[in-house]
Amino acid sequence: MRSCYIHIPFCEKICSYCDFCKMFYNEKLVDKYLDKLDEEIGSIYKGDELHTLYIGGGTPSSLNLNQLERLFSITDKLNKNSNIEFTIECNFSNTTKEKLELFKKHGVNRISFGLETTSSKQLLFLERDEDQERTREIINEARNIGFNNINVDLMYALPNETITDLKNDLEFINSLNVEHVSCYSLIIEEHTKLSINDTKNIDSELDYDMYLEICKFMKNSGFNHYEISNYSKEGFESKHNLVYWNNEEYYGFGLGASSYLDNKRCTNTRSISNYLKGSYLLEEEILEKDDLVYYEIMLNLRKKDGIDLGKLYSLYNVRIKYEELVKLGLLECNENKLYIPEDKWYISNDIIIRLLEGVRYE
Ligand code: SF4
Repeated sequence: MRSCYIHIPFCEKICSYCDFCKMFYNEKLVDKYLDKLDEEIGSIYKGDELHTLYIGGGTPSSLNLNQLERLFSITDKLNKNSNIEFTIECNFSNTTKEKLELFKKHGVNRISFGLETTSSKQLLFLERDEDQERTREIINEARNIGFNNINVDLMYALPNETITDLKNDLEFINSLNVEHVSCYSLIIEEHTKLSINDTKNIDSELDYDMYLEICKFMKNSGFNHYEISNYSKEGFESKHNLVYWNNEEYYGFGLGASSYLDNKRCTNTRSISNYLKGSYLLEEEILEKDDLVYYEIMLNLRKKDGIDLGKLYSLYNVRIKYEELVKLGLLECNENKLYIPEDKWYISNDIIIRLLEGVRYE
C-alpha cells in the first residue's frame, strides 16, 4: 500500500510569511489546473491501493463547489483502502457547510485547518483572516456533519509575541477539543514579504521558552507529543505525515509536489505555465545507499519512538556508534529503538548531524 499527496496551489490571500508553492486564486486557471492534474495522475498512478491520501496547498478550500466536485471526480478514481485516512487542508475563512458536506460525501475523514494565531494584532501582521467566532462555528459544523478527526495549525515565535499571547492561543485551541495540533515556529524565509520587510526572528531564548511552554501545555491537556511539531490525542496521530517520518513511499501530484517512489525522490515544477503544458517534473534524485541511510535516520528521529536499529541493519547493513551521544543525554536507546528525548528535540538537527558521523557500513 502507498500514500498520495495532491497539491492545490491556490489561495484567496497571500500570507506575509508564506514560502509554500501558491498563487492567487483565479477561477479559469483553477479549471485548467484541475484538468492537468487529472492528466498527471492518469499518466503516473499505477492503481496501487492507498492507505493515506492528503490534499494540501495552498488552500484547497478556496476552490468553489464545482471545482471541488471536479477535484473529487479525480480522487474518486484512486484505489482507496477501506480504512484510508483522507485529509483535506482548509482555511476557516472559506470553508462552508456545503463544502464540508461535499468532503464527507467523497470520503474525506480528516480536516486540517490553518488557524496560526488568535491575536488580531498578529493576524494583521501575518495577513490572515481568521476569527474566533467563525473558527468555532466551522468546527461545530464539521462535527455536526460527522468529522471526528480535526487538526489545527498553530504558529508561534511571532515578532512581539509574548508567552501570555501564546498561552491565549493554546487555551483557545484546547477549547476547540480537536484531536490533533501542529505547532510551528515562524521561520522567516527568503523572498517572503516578511523577509523583504526585513522582519527579524524573535530572540532564540524566547523561542525555546515558547517551545517548552507548548510541550507542557499540550501534555497537561492530554495530547501525546509524538513528533517534533505534532501533538495528538490517543490514536489520532497523522497517518499520512507518519509515512514521511517513517521514510515510506508516497506519490506526489500537482504543482511543486514531491514524491518518493522506487528509491527516487522527485519534485514537480513550481512554474504554472510549465505545469499546464504538461512538463510536470522539475528534478529527480536517484538515491544511493548512503542517501537512503541518511533519510532513514534523519526522518525517523523526528518521532518520539525514534529509529529501529534492527530495521536499519536489516535494510542497509548499517550500525551506528551512538553511545557517546547517549552518555551526553542527547539520545536514549531502549529495546533497539534509538530516539531523541523530548527536551532535546529543539536541537535535533545538531544531534542528527553528530549521529550521522557515527554511521558504519558492514
Ligand atoms: S493560506 Fe497557506 S498556502 Fe496560502 S498564502 Fe497563506 S500560508 Fe501560504
